[in-house]
Amino acid sequence: MYRNTWMEVDLDAIAENVRITKEICGKKYIAVLKADAYGCGDQQVSNAVLEAGADMLAVSSLDEALMLRNEGYAGKLLILGAVDGADTKTLIQNAISTAAYSQAWVDEVTALGCKGLQVHLAVDTGMNRIGFKVNTALQKAFQQLKDAGCNMEGIFTHFCCSDTPDHIMTNQQYAKFVSAVKSLDYPFAWIHCDNSDATIFFKDDLSNACRVGITLYGISPYKKDLKKAVSLHTTVSMTKHIHKGETVGYGATYTADSDQIIATLPIGYADGFIRANQGRKVYVDGQMAEIVGRICMDQCMVRLEQDVKPGTEVEIFGEHIDLEQMAQELNTISYEVICLISGRVTRKYIWHGEEYGEDNPRLIRSGISNA
Ligand SMILES: *Cc1c(COP(=O)(O)O)cnc(C)c1O
Repeated sequence: MYRNTWMEVDLDAIAENVRITKEICGKKYIAVLKADAYGCGDQQVSNAVLEAGADMLAVSSLDEALMLRNEGYAGKLLILGAVDGADTKTLIQNAISTAAYSQAWVDEVTALGCKGLQVHLAVDTGMNRIGFKVNTALQKAFQQLKDAGCNMEGIFTHFCCSDTPDHIMTNQQYAKFVSAVKSLDYPFAWIHCDNSDATIFFKDDLSNACRVGITLYGISPYKKDLKKAVSLHTTVSMTKHIHKGETVGYGATYTADSDQIIATLPIGYADGFIRANQGRKVYVDGQMAEIVGRICMDQCMVRLEQDVKPGTEVEIFGEHIDLEQMAQELNTISYEVICLISGRVTRKYIWHGEEYGEDNPRLIRSGISNA
C-alpha cells in the first residue's frame, strides 16, 4: 500500500562491524547513534550494537536520548551535544550522562542543583565547537561540578581531521587532550577521543573507550573488510518510449537526442534524493540508467537501454552503486547522503539472517500498520 521505495538496513552487518572494530579498538565501545542512527533507525541499530557488545550508546540531544529510554534502553547513555541547563532534572531522572560544554552551562546547572548528574567534560582541543579550551578553565568547571555533587564520570575530545591519516592536527589535539586529562589527575571511568577513523588508525595510550559512528554501517576509507549495512531501493512505476526531440521533467532541461525509453521511479527530493543527483546513474536490473531531467519532489525519471516491466527493482546505492562513490559525485560525504534519506522512506531490516520488520511512521499514522 505504501510506495515501493525503501532503505535496507542489515543489522547483522552492523553487529559484525561492531565486533571487527571492537577488536581493533581493544577498549570500551561507545556506539554513536545520533540523528536516528545516521538515519538507519536508532531503536533497531541499538539492538544490534548492544548484542555485539557495545558498552554505551551516545546521541546528540536530549530528545534522542529520551526516545531510547522510552523504548526500553536502560544501559549507559551519553549526550555528546549541548543540552539546556534547564533540562538537568530530566537528565538525572533518566540517568542520562551529558557533556559539560561551557562555563555558562556549569554555572546554570550548579545553581539549579545537579547532584547525581553524570557528566563528561568536553575538552575543545581544536574543533572549536563545544568544550573547554584552556586547562585552568577546565579545572574550574571540574571543581565546581564536583563540589555540586555531580558524578564526574568522563572526559572527552573530538578530532577534526581524523579522516586524513597522519594529519598533524590529530597529534596536536591528542597532546592537548593528554595535558587536559593529566591536569585534573582524576580517575575518570570514561576517557574518549577516537571517532571511527581514529579508532582504526590512531593508537593512543590515554583513552579507555572509542566512539564509533559511521563505521557501524561498514563505511570507512581505511578499512575495506567491513560489511556494507545500508542500501537504498525503489521500483519502476512505468516506462514510456519517447521520440527524439521530446523533453523530460520540469524546466524541460533534458532533450532526447534519439528515440528513448524513460522509466519513472517513485523517489524524489522529499525522500532525500536531492536534485544534485540529476545526471548520476541508478542500477535497474543489470542496466546503469542515467537520471534525466530534474528530480521532482516525489519522482524522477531515468533513461533505459532496454525496456523493463513495471515493478522492476532499482538500486539507488548498495551492491552495485557504492555509497561513498555516490557521495563524492554529489560533492559531499556518505554521512550526509544517508542522514538525508527522509522519514517517508520505509526502513526494512535484516536481523539474524531474516527479514526483521519495517519501520515507517506513515504506515502507522495512515492506519496501514500498527507495528
Ligand atoms: C558524530 C560524532 C562521533 C562519531 O563520528 P564518526 O566519524 O561517525 O565515527 C564521535 N564523537 C562525536 C563527538 C561526534 O559528534
